[in-house]
Amino acid sequence: MTPTGDAATRKPPKRIDAELLKADFPILDERIHGHRLAYLDNAATTQKPQCVLDAMTYFYSTEYSNVHRGLHELSSRATAAYESAREIVCRFLNARATKEIVFVRGTTEAVNLVAHSYGGKNVGSGDEVVITTMEHHSNIVPWQMLCEAKGAHLKVAPIDDAGDIILEDLESLLGPRTRIVAVAHVSNALGTCNPVRTIIEMAHARGIPVLLDGAQAAPRMPVDVQELDCDFYAFSGHKIYGPSGIGVLYGKAQLLESMPPYQGGGEMIRHVTFEKTLYNDIPDRFEAGTPNITGAVGLAVALDYISALGLDAIEAHEGALLAALTEALIDLPGVTIIGTAKERAGLVSFVVDGIHPHDIGTILDHEGVAIRAGHHCAQPTMDRYSVPATARASLGLYNTRGDIDALIAGMHKVREVFL
Ligand code: PMP
Repeated sequence: MTPTGDAATRKPPKRIDAELLKADFPILDERIHGHRLAYLDNAATTQKPQCVLDAMTYFYSTEYSNVHRGLHELSSRATAAYESAREIVCRFLNARATKEIVFVRGTTEAVNLVAHSYGGKNVGSGDEVVITTMEHHSNIVPWQMLCEAKGAHLKVAPIDDAGDIILEDLESLLGPRTRIVAVAHVSNALGTCNPVRTIIEMAHARGIPVLLDGAQAAPRMPVDVQELDCDFYAFSGHKIYGPSGIGVLYGKAQLLESMPPYQGGGEMIRHVTFEKTLYNDIPDRFEAGTPNITGAVGLAVALDYISALGLDAIEAHEGALLAALTEALIDLPGVTIIGTAKERAGLVSFVVDGIHPHDIGTILDHEGVAIRAGHHCAQPTMDRYSVPATARASLGLYNTRGDIDALIAGMHKVREVFL
């Protein structure tokens, strides 16, 4: 196609008008210690748009019942809403089929499910699981527990000073005993956006499946599981403008089909006798008990909301803010940014000479600026940089330059108080 033809058929890129979008999020109107709220703790959890709140109230008010069980009208409505939420997730991730979408409590439960079920079946004594230094505890501890139970070994790919995985070292850890690789798509402590396509290719060349922890990536960039060719993908509803207590595990159908149940109970069975239980097909096999029905409904509306805005537009919006935020922080005396990888997304971790991150967080809070201070559930990452904690400002689709200005003004207050 000629360039002219291309331009003529290409849709104009959508733009995020964050100031306008703030109006969709009622909590952003809250006054915090007399200030307008600058909410910069989106990596911990995101706020919810009115449409998500309304959808959950509407569902409870007009459609709520248990799913898959009753023959009555409300049960049909609830089941239809729950299964339609699964279809929306399937489209959001571009999965091949709804049976590849398992509703879980969140990323943590998704990783535990894979470690327990896939790992329980496929990892034995002397086998290896490969992760990286920058993982969240929820992508470390389940594997550690598995390895301990099985006599297997947890191998950790190192990262360099900037916060990039050292790919040659990761590759050299992949061997005949490697049973799975589990990596963050985007690091919650450093903001590193990992070269997951390359990692997946490296692993697949050796027949090793890959789990991506998408908790920080799914809310801020387009994710296409077929294009990535990942074997498992996990994310949390509450970090993607949906409710808490709901999340998603995507798994390739042939892998999920080969895996035993994670928990036993109702829903996951086909037939039960005291002698033997026949398990249900996927995805029900992995959804024991009454699921978070209303959570799934709310999550689906959140995914529709961000899809309508455009994930590429959100990525571009946050990318521009991240550049401005990084530049402004670097200009402050005594600030060191922890995590300066080539590709970063969504957040900046930083420390300030002579001031504890908790004190930064407390002073900023008094200025109406919400950030996080701590180890971000990534203590091995903190150890890598020899810091006990960092301050972390993390972005969402409703953040503006004004929020960054509020943070920087707050940082001047922090210096006045402590230095
Ligand atoms: N992985 C990453 C990269 C995260 O940022 C988080 C949440 N901070 C998790 C996993 C765990 O998510 P959840 O607590 O929602 O299960």
